[in-house]
Amino acid sequence: MVIIIDPKMIKPKKMNCKDCKKEFEQKATARYERKYCDKCSKKRKKAYEGLWKVKAEDCEDA
Ligand SMILES: [Zn+2]
Repeated sequence: MVIIIDPKMIKPKKMNCKDCKKEFEQKATARYERKYCDKCSKKRKKAYEGLWKVKAEDCEDA
């Protein structure tokens, strides 16, 4: 049996962002399930990178 998957038939999954509780669409073909919307995942990434930056600056001052 051959199963033909038409990408147009795959509907994006509706997810609720764990951060802002807003609904966002997740690609059905996505390998990993996302917990945050685009905005929040970008914000979280930035905050994470900022954390390291602050740490590095703290080391320089000490
Ligand atoms: Zn969000």
